[in-house]
Amino acid sequence: MKKIIESYKRKLAAEEGWVLKRGAQLRIALCYPNVYSIGMANLGFQAMYEIFNNIPEVSCERGFLPDDASSARSGKGSGYDQALPNRRDSDTRPLDEMSEYERTRTPLLSLESQTKLRDFDVIAFSISFETDYVNLARMLQMSGVPVWAKDRTRHDPLIVMGGAASFLNPEPIAEFTDIIGVGEGEILGPKLIDVLLENESKEDTLLQLARQGRGFYVPSLYHVSYKDDGTVEAYTATEEGVPVRVGRAVSAESPKEGSLRRAIRRGQKDIVAQLKRDEVFAPSTTIWAPQAEMGDRFLIEISRGCSQGCRFCWAGYNYWPPRVVPARDILAKAAEWRGKTDKIGLVSTAVCDHPEISEILQGLRAMDYRISVSSLRLDQISEELLDALVESRDQQIAVAPETGSDRLRRVINKNLTNDEIVDICGAVFDRGMLTVKLYMMVGLPTETDEDLAEMITLVERIKDRMLEAGKRFGRAGKIIPSLNGLVPKPNTPFQWEAICDEKELKRRLKWVSKNLARIPNVEVRTMSARIAHEQALFSSGDRRIARIIEATARLKGDLHAALRETQVDPAFHTSRRRSYDEVLPWEIVNSGLSREFMQQEDERAHDARSTAPCPSVNQCKRCGVCPTTWLGEAPAALVQLQAYATHPAAKAALLI
Ligand code: SF4
Repeated sequence: MKKIIESYKRKLAAEEGWVLKRGAQLRIALCYPNVYSIGMANLGFQAMYEIFNNIPEVSCERGFLPDDASSARSGKGSGYDQALPNRRDSDTRPLDEMSEYERTRTPLLSLESQTKLRDFDVIAFSISFETDYVNLARMLQMSGVPVWAKDRTRHDPLIVMGGAASFLNPEPIAEFTDIIGVGEGEILGPKLIDVLLENESKEDTLLQLARQGRGFYVPSLYHVSYKDDGTVEAYTATEEGVPVRVGRAVSAESPKEGSLRRAIRRGQKDIVAQLKRDEVFAPSTTIWAPQAEMGDRFLIEISRGCSQGCRFCWAGYNYWPPRVVPARDILAKAAEWRGKTDKIGLVSTAVCDHPEISEILQGLRAMDYRISVSSLRLDQISEELLDALVESRDQQIAVAPETGSDRLRRVINKNLTNDEIVDICGAVFDRGMLTVKLYMMVGLPTETDEDLAEMITLVERIKDRMLEAGKRFGRAGKIIPSLNGLVPKPNTPFQWEAICDEKELKRRLKWVSKNLARIPNVEVRTMSARIAHEQALFSSGDRRIARIIEATARLKGDLHAALRETQVDPAFHTSRRRSYDEVLPWEIVNSGLSREFMQQEDERAHDARSTAPCPSVNQCKRCGVCPTTWLGEAPAALVQLQAYATHPAAKAALLI
């Protein structure tokens, strides 16, 4: 245990910005179900740490999956291939914390005060990816907290889950959990604390949260029945006032409301003044953690959601309507951090959708920042952004043609042609950036071998364009296609699709990969068909998948042994086309997207018909989100594009 504590103290010594409040009324262990270096690069996780610790009655500490031999040795986190910057010298060689925990049978500890996680009032997991579900179960097992909610008593901490993966389809982890946050954390975090502080008993807390109708899913208050064919028959609420479906929370109620009310009641004038300050919340780096992935830069979310509606993309649909953080607030925060770093990462699903992107880039360049972005959408890329990225030389340009077939791009609603893609890559090469990464998918609905052959042709054309530009610079670059199998995701128009059969997916990936590898200056990277199928199981399963997750965690990651033990048939959950009449497991969450809209989008996909982007303005009722959620009530920092209705993209989309 001593070695683990020393390892944690070394991590804290390398950081700035962490807090430890002694004697707080409510203690929360905020956990990321992966290793430290990956968790600290997650903006949602950092944001929740700030939100919880901003509440005077709360002390929030962090918990992570312990570093194992590979992450400790190389600075790599599970599944990531980037080496960390600023690793320590060998005199303070990182510890293989996982082995040490196992050897000493130490229950999992928090980072800040090295307290056992099981001694906290609440253990709150922030989950962005379903691939971390097994880690989550493992962390509960290592903490000595019963994994199954039904086995826990009032002496155990309350287990809360939040984050994108948990509200996209909460069912695979529902039976581990007391409360699942459905929606955005800056709204849900303070509301959760208000209810926890107001209620003495666990039962009252759960019931009050569930009865909010939006934002909190309490799985134990629903009975799930199944039909003879194994599909879900119905969800039935077991208590009065508990909604049939839980609405997604994107409301604009003041997140500080409860804290303010309590401070006024107690006469705490300083706290009242602090809470009344007109500050804007934009998720950004809170703790400076140089040992984390991307730990050498200041990260800030500049917008949420993407207007395009690519039919495979869960992040696009589940954050509709798209909203932006005003340039003024982004630049103010960037100015605060400039003394610490000259690198900034703009986090967004669609950077160039921001109507003030020009002002943001100019402001950051004036501060001499080296700019990188979390993703680039090809159709919207501006010359100005390209110039800024090339100038900073801080990241490899990655673009996402997705496929090589214009027809298939209409199927997935990515409205670009091969000619446009080659031109955009050309604009990158002409600036002297001669290496690009290309994200491409295999196994798309209606895909044929001819479509796959078009992928090879497109990559050849891009490579030729690179060599042409390269002559002017006297050197050649590299084209790096990254091939992934399509995993149909819940709450997207492809939610009814089956994943491509594993053998067939393997064949297609192998064929494309082999033919790309023959092209000079091309270096292909391929995801395995097996991994795609594992992802599909964890993302589209129902409550019965929890048994597989628990067994996999207990059997140290051996999924095949877990499948043998549980006798659950993964193909049932991943490899059949679902009917439009079927009750889908994730429909316990009401994302606001209407079934009619989603079905129409799926049908349009099969006809290779594209759909105009979400216009993000309040006259629109097209997908159902705005009329049924929160239109016109955006939280302070996330302003709906409506405020920028003069933006040409919004106008154009409205006219279509
Ligand atoms: S209702 Fe219209 S504006 Fe609102 S999210 Fe849906 S498509 Fe976008």
